[in-house]
Amino acid sequence: MKGLVPQRKKNKYNQVFKKSWTEEEQFKKWIKQEKDEYFAMCRVCNKDISTKNTGRLALVRHQDSAMHTKLCKSQKKQGT
Ligand SMILES: [Zn+2]
Repeated sequence: MKGLVPQRKKNKYNQVFKKSWTEEEQFKKWIKQEKDEYFAMCRVCNKDISTKNTGRLALVRHQDSAMHTKLCKSQKKQGT
């Protein structure tokens, strides 16, 4: 019999942490791999960033966040 409704498979799989991200110029200063493959950690903010849903975008967003840019600036100042 016909009439089988094909199940809508969301072909979305979780985005795991990619090691190549740690080699990107913009990320490598602060990124660190977390215990979990779906998390990155920011060494500047000491914060976990979930990459599960948005992957690399989560990192870009974090990098642009007010807290992160602020902390980055204050860290640089410490050098003098
Ligand atoms: Zn940060």
